[in-house]
Amino acid sequence: MRAMRNGSQQELPQLSSLTVAELKTEMESLKEPGYRAKQIIDWRNKGMLNPDDMKNIPIALRVKLAIAIVFEPLQLVQRQCSKDGTRKYLFKLTSGKQQGKMVETVFIPEEKRGTVCVSSQIGCVLDCPFCYTGTQGFDGNLTSGEIVAQVLAVKYDLLKEPVNESNAEILHSHVTHIVYMGMGEPMANETGLHESLNILLDADGLKLSQRRITVSTSGLVPQINRLGETSAVNLAISLHAASDALRDVLVPINRKYPLEQLRQCLDAYPLSAQRHITLEYVMLEGVNDRPEDIESLNKFVNRRRERINLISFNAYPGNPYEGSSKEHMNKFAKQLISKGIRATVRRSRGQDIMAACGQLKAEGIAA
Ligand code: SAH
Ligand code: SF4
Repeated sequence: MRAMRNGSQQELPQLSSLTVAELKTEMESLKEPGYRAKQIIDWRNKGMLNPDDMKNIPIALRVKLAIAIVFEPLQLVQRQCSKDGTRKYLFKLTSGKQQGKMVETVFIPEEKRGTVCVSSQIGCVLDCPFCYTGTQGFDGNLTSGEIVAQVLAVKYDLLKEPVNESNAEILHSHVTHIVYMGMGEPMANETGLHESLNILLDADGLKLSQRRITVSTSGLVPQINRLGETSAVNLAISLHAASDALRDVLVPINRKYPLEQLRQCLDAYPLSAQRHITLEYVMLEGVNDRPEDIESLNKFVNRRRERINLISFNAYPGNPYEGSSKEHMNKFAKQLISKGIRATVRRSRGQDIMAACGQLKAEGIAA
């Protein structure tokens, strides 16, 4: 049996890290018929990872496979539901090098889409001063299987318990979109990122469309270039400031890849017609919401290819900033629009359960 790609020789492959073709190869090495691979993958794609649920697979094969493969890389520890329908999940990793560590995932139901926000790392090394995840420090990369398993676990939960539709609006209860905006910097876990994208996009497997997946990054230039070479998923850049002096503070990776390098990288990023790059901009009162910040953005933004998403600051215990007011955010957006820049204000979701952007930090529950 092939060794786990992200780890040591002893680690077993995770079912959620395999394409159909790879599982077929595993079946051959177990002297089992290849069509079983598709049957197992069909269960997996529904989120049914427990071998006991795979009714059309002979029990002897399930037992044999359970020795060779990790079926369930995540164990659900806690689920919290927001009054706006958002769900936050806390998972414990069940296998491999990171066994026992915790990770968080969010599902955001809206009228026309259901978005899973996946984590790519346990914590984050990059230390942006307005981000709760950053305060946790870095505790390891997730494997591709652990990233994909987050999506599958949400699917399973929605299958068992669809989102309550008693809200004023009818909310989507299926996974239609995926954003890499949970804990961690996806570009700093390049193997986990690229391999998980392969599995999510696998035409014989989960079959997600590239247009429905967004990777968010604080701006690791070489990694952005490499993603552009291999994939056409949506790109979101956590900009937050358009002058080096301020961005060096708010997004410290800017000291390594300053705005001019980021500018060149974004201009060279392959984009097909009608696609755009999203520039995320969390609005901090008196810090990056001043008239001079409009001017910096005016100089930085490539209007034909980019649009700005203004995000309200999500507070967390001990945070050092105040968020800009709703009124000020709307005014800021209007000023950008008057300069020909496309700008929208993003509604924050799941704040009551600390599930909004930058509020994730796997803690509070004993392992
Ligand atoms: N590390 C990646 C992806 C995870 S963070 C990145 O930085 O892009 C996802 C988004 O949440 C980023 O745009 C990030 O800047 C933003 N964010 C972090 N902390 C926040 C907070 N307290 N309030 C609002 N947005 C926040
Ligand atoms: Fe890491 Fe993104 Fe948080 Fe910055 S904003 S500390 S890059 S997770």
